[in-house]
Formats: sequence, C-alpha cells, structure tokens
Amino acid sequence: MKPDVALVEKWRTRAPRYTSYPTAPWFGPVADEAVDAALGRQSGPFTAYLHVPFCVQRCLYCGCHVEIQGKRAVAGPYVDAVLREAELKAARMQPGRVLTQLSLGGGTPTFLLPEQMAKLVKGLRSTWGFAPDADLAIEVDPRSVDEAYVDQLVDLGFNRYSFGVQDLDPEVLKVVHRDQPVDLTVRALDALRRRGSFDINMDLVYGLPEQTPERFRSTVQVVAAMHPTRIALFQYAHVPWIKPAQKALEKYAMPGSEAKSDMFAIASEVFGAAGYEPVGMDHFALPGDALLEAQRSGTLQRNFEGYTTHGGLDLVGLGVSAIGGFGGVYAQDLKDRKAWTDAIDAGRLPTERGFVLSAEDELRRRVIMELFCNLSTVIAGAELPVLARSVEALGPLVADGIVEVQPRGEGFGVTITPLGRHFIRNVCAVFDAYLEAEAGARRYSVTA
Ligand code: SF4
Repeated sequence: MKPDVALVEKWRTRAPRYTSYPTAPWFGPVADEAVDAALGRQSGPFTAYLHVPFCVQRCLYCGCHVEIQGKRAVAGPYVDAVLREAELKAARMQPGRVLTQLSLGGGTPTFLLPEQMAKLVKGLRSTWGFAPDADLAIEVDPRSVDEAYVDQLVDLGFNRYSFGVQDLDPEVLKVVHRDQPVDLTVRALDALRRRGSFDINMDLVYGLPEQTPERFRSTVQVVAAMHPTRIALFQYAHVPWIKPAQKALEKYAMPGSEAKSDMFAIASEVFGAAGYEPVGMDHFALPGDALLEAQRSGTLQRNFEGYTTHGGLDLVGLGVSAIGGFGGVYAQDLKDRKAWTDAIDAGRLPTERGFVLSAEDELRRRVIMELFCNLSTVIAGAELPVLARSVEALGPLVADGIVEVQPRGEGFGVTITPLGRHFIRNVCAVFDAYLEAEAGARRYSVTA
C-alpha cells in the first residue's frame, strides 16, 4: 500500500533504523572488565560478524566503515590479527559454545586474496566450534571474484551469499563512482549456481542521485529476473556530516519524497508480481526464505547486519569497527586499524566504545525490535510504569492509520498496519527514550 505524499511529508523526520537499541551514537566508554564479564556471561550457541574494511574504490553513497586500498596483499596481516582477536574472545567465553552463524561484511570481504580467505575461515574453524549446519554468509562484490574464487567460497562452506548490486543504471552508477557492469553480477551468479542451490541476496539502494522511478523500474525488473531468494531494498541515507564523501553527490538531482515513494512502490509491485513477499521494512523474499518464514512465525529479529533469524543469540564482533552484542552489553571495536592491531598485539580486547544496557533499555529494546521485525508487540500492564508515555504518544500515529493500539489484559497490543510499514521508524522512535532526550540533533538520516 503506497502512502499519499502528504502523509509521507507529515511524518518525514530523522529516526534510526534500529539495528540496536540504544543506537550506536549513544555508545560511549565502557570498561574492559564489563566487556570481559559480558563475553563470559552466557552459554549456548552464538553468532559472529567479521568486518573486512578494505575496498578498491569508494562508492560516494557509502555509509560503511571502509579503507580504500589498492593492494590486496595488505589484508594478510589483517587476517592474522582477526584470528588473534577470535582467540582473545574465545578465551573469555564459556567452553563448548558453538557458532551457528558467521557473517562476513565490509567493506569488501572478497577483497581478501583466495589464500587469505582460506586461512581466515580455517583459522576460525580451529578456534571456534562451528555447528554442522551453521549459516556462513558473505557479502560478495562481483567485481572482485572470478569463477575460481566463487568455487573456493563454496568449498569453504559459505552457504549464504549477498551481492551488492545497488542499481544497474549506468548513469546512476557513474555518478556514485561504482563501476559495476551487470554482466559481472551475472557471471558470479552463474558460477555460484553451477555449484548448487544457495540462499542468494541482492542489495539495492533507492534515493540515489539521478535515479528516477522509471529508470529504477528497469533495475528492479532485471534483478527480479535474476531470481535471488531475497532482495534488500535500502533507502539511501544521506548523512554527509558523518560521511563527508557524500557531499559530492549534492551537485546532482536527488529524488524527493514522492519519487522515492514511487520507487519503493514500483519495486514492491515488480517483486510482488515475481512471487516475492515483503519482509520487515525493506526486504522481499521468495517463499521458503528463512527471514520470510521467521516473520510468519513471529520470530524475525534484528541486529547490526539487519534482519536475522539469529538475533536472540550473542553476537561477537571481529575486525575494525565491528559491533558485538552479548550478555547485556554492546561493544564496538576500534576503528583505527593500527590502534586496533596494537590492542590485539598487547593481548587486550580492541574495544573502542560500547553500552551496558539497563533493565529499562532491555524492555524498550524488546518492544522496538518486535515492532521493527514482526510489526506488532504486546506491552504488559506491569510494563506500563515505564512505557505509558510512549503508548500515549502513539495517538497521532493511530489517528493517521499507521498503527493500531488495542487493550490487551492489563496492558496493550500495538500493531503496525499495512500502510504503517512505510513508517516503522516513526513508530519505533516513540519508544526510544534517548531520541526523546536528544531533541532533534542530526544523528540519523531522514525517514523519507
Ligand atoms: S564497495 Fe560497498 S563498502 Fe566499499 S565503498 Fe562501495 S558501498 Fe562502501
């Protein structure tokens, strides 16, 4: 359901995408002992995110922590340091824990040379116990892999692949400095499919300079025809005060709220006609996809990688800038590669900042994540002393048909309507105690 422009404009604001709560801008100094203790607090399965910061060229829209590098050999010492970091963290965790999901993101994980990638995965397997059916996910830049590289990824056990496509329009790609002809993506996809059937995600971005609804229609039609199991359709986050390289895009025509809304509607229509179903705020998936099944069963979750089926488990971060969440604590690694390496060489966890959650933070996190993922939540009567003001603040959203609030026992059930899917960030922001305290500081991108 496409919202009308007046409603989009009315609710246009700055709000987080809630990959964590509290969100990363609120992270600050955290004692090493608190992180050590949190790592050792829980038992059972866990997940890990590994950040590879290197990219050959900077895409001007990029919001990730990247290091532009021409020589792939520089990643050798980085892999060695990541493996030492995994050992440091394993030593602080309870014995016998099993890794059920490993995600490699970046930057560009496939910047690693084939031998570096093999050393990395084999090293992690010897430090941590991998579950036999573990999800091993990797972001693949089609520009940096050939058929032999794809073969090796399959041989190493990767079973979930995410391709950064973003857009296929040559004009748009030229403006954002991403030189990626579609045949490179097709070549990588074909190489993968020759090896078997895998979960394949494609990332698209709308709201980029020079994009128009009709040109974007061509992109989504080609992507649907490539038949990935899942498509992530992200809205471009223009935050030049955090990512100065984005300033260079301001000289081009940027699509406004109405054009962006049209692009999302066109993509929804094209993907819907191709058999995809919506997942959460901005994903589409074919029947059988794990995220879609999780949404249906009300167990979809969210972490720093976006939507996940493993969000309830400890997430251990590895690599510069990586954020982990475990035992009631968030911890982010140092962003400076030298400082990060020095800390590891000294036998210390390379933590730059983090957050120790209070009981109220945990409660608000549950509500926000349930709304963001499963579009509904229940607030118990016993939780109202903390959340009554937030429930009351939903009034204007209820009046606009974005959310429904029903009495449920002593408390309330809150459900986001089909129209409200376009305003999930607005609904969740109502439950964000820090956003309220922040009073309009420009930390986040606009919602539309
Ligand atoms: S390849 Fe990805 S991580 Fe690297 S600059 Fe481009 S968008 Fe950012």
